[in-house]
Amino acid sequence: MLRNLAGVLYNLFIKPSPAITDTLKIHKASLTIQLSLFLTVAVNSGVFYMGFFSPNPKVGLVLLAAEGVFFISYLISRTRYYKTAALLVIAAFALLPIFELLFSTERDAYTILLLLIWNTLNIIFATSLLSFRQLLIFFFLNILIILSFPLYLSDVTIEKIILPLIFNTILPLALIIFSSYEKRIERRRVDEILEINARLENELTIKTEMEEKLIYNATHDVLTKLPNRAVMRDRIDHLIHYYKRHEDLGFAVMFMDLDRFKTINDTLGHNVGDKLLIEVGKRLKDSLREQDTVTRLGGDEFVILLEDICSIEEIIHILDRLREDLKEPVLLENEVVHVSASLGIVMGNHDETNPDIIIGNADIAMYRAKKRSGFSYEFYDSTMLNSIKSKLELESRLRKGVENREFIILYQPIINTQTQITAGYEALIRWKDSRGKMVSPADFIPIAEETGLIIPIGYDVIDQVCRQIKEWQTAHPGRKFTVSINLSNRQFEAPDFIEKIREIIEKNRIDPVYLKFELTESLIVEKYQETGDQLSRLRELGCQILIDDFGTGYSSLSYLHSLPIDILKIDRSFINKLSGKKENIVYTIINLAHSLNMEVVAEGIETAEQLNLVKTMGCEYIQGYYFSKPVDSKEAGRFLR
Ligand code: C2E
Ligand code: MG
Ligand code: MG
Repeated sequence: MLRNLAGVLYNLFIKPSPAITDTLKIHKASLTIQLSLFLTVAVNSGVFYMGFFSPNPKVGLVLLAAEGVFFISYLISRTRYYKTAALLVIAAFALLPIFELLFSTERDAYTILLLLIWNTLNIIFATSLLSFRQLLIFFFLNILIILSFPLYLSDVTIEKIILPLIFNTILPLALIIFSSYEKRIERRRVDEILEINARLENELTIKTEMEEKLIYNATHDVLTKLPNRAVMRDRIDHLIHYYKRHEDLGFAVMFMDLDRFKTINDTLGHNVGDKLLIEVGKRLKDSLREQDTVTRLGGDEFVILLEDICSIEEIIHILDRLREDLKEPVLLENEVVHVSASLGIVMGNHDETNPDIIIGNADIAMYRAKKRSGFSYEFYDSTMLNSIKSKLELESRLRKGVENREFIILYQPIINTQTQITAGYEALIRWKDSRGKMVSPADFIPIAEETGLIIPIGYDVIDQVCRQIKEWQTAHPGRKFTVSINLSNRQFEAPDFIEKIREIIEKNRIDPVYLKFELTESLIVEKYQETGDQLSRLRELGCQILIDDFGTGYSSLSYLHSLPIDILKIDRSFINKLSGKKENIVYTIINLAHSLNMEVVAEGIETAEQLNLVKTMGCEYIQGYYFSKPVDSKEAGRFLR
């Protein structure tokens, strides 16, 4: 109950000022509070005693007032004006003995002396007390001593000390309870503050950690732990501005792409692929100088920034070192992997200030280097960009060409050397683009292959040829002839290729024996197994298969006897160099073909001499300008007569 009352009073009058928030201040305040309290308690004992014993009623009143000051100062000390409270206590205390001396009678001299000593001792003792328990002990001692007064002061009777005893009990007790209550609240406040503080600190650490992680992830590649494109862009941007002021030096950006990385990934697994990338990243870093930056853009693409470069020679030197370091075989999960890469290099200059374009230009140069094999590199120059631009433009025109069916077919007759009769034709595509210009296949087939447009174009060719065959069949009933159609690797590799051809043949209702397909050696050599099955299915349709440009590509002849091939077409370059000697390559090819039960077409026959030579060597068919250039279907039809 007493505690509840203290709580109410506390809340009403002496709730600590919210201004005291820092722990040091609270501690100081609490020390002052205790000091005031102890002084109050100490003085109490004497004050009331004196007051009630003195025959002069003024003494009692003055001392009561002093008591009031102590109490007020105690209350003040609960607020943030604890310093004022302490001053009040000291002042009141200093005045006290003077009042006592002034107003007391001689009879009290002993008592005064006793009280002064007692008070002084009290103060010294009380100020050294800090804990609540010590305070309680002190309080009871005080009471005991008051109780002991009648023992050695003859005129003090028990009745006379009852009142001082009651005051001395109630007041300090109330103060002690206040104090403990206040202390508890204060402690709770401090605990709360500490807890909030700890929580805030914790949250702050988590937040900072998260922020750091976010920043790391946004600027680094997770796999190799290398910085990423954003960092590279930023570094280049910085250098562009830096070298504006230091024109004797410069920087270079290298775009590096691993060779055959896809194959490594496909054959050895992604795990090995990932480890290889990590290893390459490490080697690049180790190989380059501290100030250079290595970043990974993704996939097997790395971008390197070289700073403080004075000459191309310096870059070539760095490239040599890179080659040496990358060349060392990598042992990954018991597999030895040989690393090779293609690099494109751009020298930083003052004209180009967009980091993305600089990286893009290095990429273009890399693309050029990729066309060569081994560890090759290429420096960027503006013509590369132009060639890429015109390529892109060609690609978009080609797309439109496919939509608008702008492709036409020319037919070049193929003549039987013995009978001099037209045995058939080779279908050769031409692109009559929207501007009416005739584009040669050499200019657009490579791009069509690269972009995959060759697939729709190819079906269009087959369809046109089939329709033409039907037309010629109707115009020349019973006349035997064939038409050869060129196929790109990409077309042949399409999974539904055979099905599609069957559909086109059936749609045009022609006999498949009229069709021949020309393939290149590269297709057969690179994907021997898959090609073999596909060729057999094409053969099963009833079409013949021919190897075009034979002799120019691969020297491996082992495939010839195991694959279903009907005809070899000797490349024009051999015919060009043809001489009468029997040991020449044309003769060898013809003999080889015959020994494998194949027929031979000699391509690019331009003179009668060439015709006679291949004829005497036993070549079955010839094709070339000597008889006819590729011509439109109308003109080609005449050769059937
Ligand atoms: P190819 O299959 O080796 O075709 C023979 C090329 O040699 C043709 O060039 C033809 O016009 C040319 N030619 C024929 N006789 C002579 C001659 O006596 N002298 C000279 N100098 N040249 C001769 P064209 O038509 O420009 O075709 C080039 C290449 O484009 C073809 O080489 C073929 O690989 C490809 N191609 C043509 N049409 C198609 C097609 O429909 N699809 C695919 N995928 N490729 C095609
Ligand atoms: Mg051909
Ligand atoms: Mg050819």
